Amino acid sequence: MKEVYTLADLEKWKPKAKTPIRLGVFGDPVEHSLSPQMQNSALKNSGLEMGYARFQIGADELPVALKLVSELDFVGVNLTVPHKIAAFGVTDELDESARQAGAVNTVKIEDGKLRGFNTDGKGFSRAIREEFSVDLRDLRVLVLGAGGAARAIAVECATENSERLVIANRDFEKAKQLAEELRSYFAEARVLGPVPRLQAIPWDKGAFRFQIANVDLLVNATPLGLHHADAAPISARLLAPHLMIYDTVYSSVQTAFVSAAIEAGARAANGLSMLLHQGALAFEIWFERAAPLDVMRKALMNKEHQGAAASKPPAK
Ligand code: NDP
Repeated sequence: MKEVYTLADLEKWKPKAKTPIRLGVFGDPVEHSLSPQMQNSALKNSGLEMGYARFQIGADELPVALKLVSELDFVGVNLTVPHKIAAFGVTDELDESARQAGAVNTVKIEDGKLRGFNTDGKGFSRAIREEFSVDLRDLRVLVLGAGGAARAIAVECATENSERLVIANRDFEKAKQLAEELRSYFAEARVLGPVPRLQAIPWDKGAFRFQIANVDLLVNATPLGLHHADAAPISARLLAPHLMIYDTVYSSVQTAFVSAAIEAGARAANGLSMLLHQGALAFEIWFERAAPLDVMRKALMNKEHQGAAASKPPAK
């Protein structure tokens, strides 16, 4: 199996007789994706004679690439940056999970038709339960970001009826728009004191300081931390020990945000658990059977240790 395939490879695709590639991840960049290790271990453990590969597919190549895999004997694909929102207009059918999130991260091919799903939100919810032994519905959550990942997370908080949701984004208009879309979920009153249940706030130190006293879970859903030199999205001085901090960025070295959280005495986790659970949910969509979670977790952990010396950050 090649490290990375391209659209040109798909155009002249000849499936191998033994363990043919019938699954993959489309992205740009994609070369550091950890999904093949995780999914190939799951396929092998489940006795499914097929492989999962990386495909370097540019933004303008997505419609052709999806059409090609729908004509080949593929089971499905995962989508990562920059395809999640674009795929919305390219799939034949959308599952409720994709409709609600406004983005697709998993495609299943059935009778040549492309069905779009989103497992990021549920993957996040499971990761929070696993890392902090608490359900989203019991939490007051501050999400940093309003892009694809933040959207899926905010929608999940809304549908699971979190106590409170605050959305902060550099482009404040996008935060306000996302909060507005979710308003109906937060109409029911809760005893929360002087703060609203749903709020968009600007990317501002003063706003962060006030909100941190009024939330339990702080989520980084921006790419800040993907590069080793990145500063934490919120400085350690503003963080507090009562917080749970989840960094959707995953890295073999501790991200700046996780370091800042630990320095402040808070509990913290990086995005590896979200990657694991969104991948397990995708496997369940493709094969309608339980995913071998422990095998997938082990494959991810092994890969992380092997990658610890590498300086480049991983993609999904
Ligand atoms: P998008 O490009 O869709 O969104 C990026 C968001 O980050 C936007 O809200 C953007 O704000 C904000 N942002 C970007 N740069 C900065 C900056 N320098 N300062 C402040 N805010 C910034 O990306 P995604 O939502 O797809 O991905 C975000 C992160 O989530 C990535 O790090 C990715 O690795 C991670 N992720 C992890 C997953 C997992 O399984 N662990 C799954 C999916 C994503 P603005 O609108 O102002 O530009």
